[in-house]
Amino acid sequence: MNSAYIYLQIYRMFDRYTPLPTDCGTYCGAVCCKGDEESGMYLFPGEKAVYDLIKPEGMTITGSGFEYEYGGKLRRTPILICKGSCDRAFRPLACRIFPLTPVLDKDDRIKIITDPRAKRLCPLTDALAPDEYEPDFIRAVQRAFDLLRHNKQVLAFLCEYTDYINDFNKFFG
Ligand code: SF4
Ligand code: SF4
Repeated sequence: MNSAYIYLQIYRMFDRYTPLPTDCGTYCGAVCCKGDEESGMYLFPGEKAVYDLIKPEGMTITGSGFEYEYGGKLRRTPILICKGSCDRAFRPLACRIFPLTPVLDKDDRIKIITDPRAKRLCPLTDALAPDEYEPDFIRAVQRAFDLLRHNKQVLAFLCEYTDYINDFNKFFG
């Protein structure tokens, strides 16, 4: 099955569910969208197929420095760079789940945590523990990655990504 189809189905889970029942961007001026032209959001394995298909204006995809091994090869994670506003229908998964992120626990199960990279940026991260966000939103994040982790390449990505997030937490958490 085309991976674009899978991601488009997952995106739909977040059409209704956001971190708070109201638009949290109104409290902070959507500060998480105000990166510079070098900051962006990682695309999960297979997610780039969505953007190859829809080619949205104002979004560019390039290779990031984040690599992981899969199938005997080093894979470079694509990063999506935007212009600070977008059609919500085209938001990548990382934007839909922000400021939460998935990691693997010691039994390779998905655990949803506050993204340590969001801590200096997003006011929600000081106010809420990961289980205090909108319950439907948390369930959607958990469900999305419980589903995705069955793909071997996603699992390989998540192994490396978990180390990266844990290191980030150690140094800056
Ligand atoms: S920075 Fe946090 S509070 Fe602000 S729009 Fe992004 S997720 Fe919502
Ligand atoms: S892609 Fe959209 S939601 Fe994501 S950071 Fe850019 S403007 Fe914000």
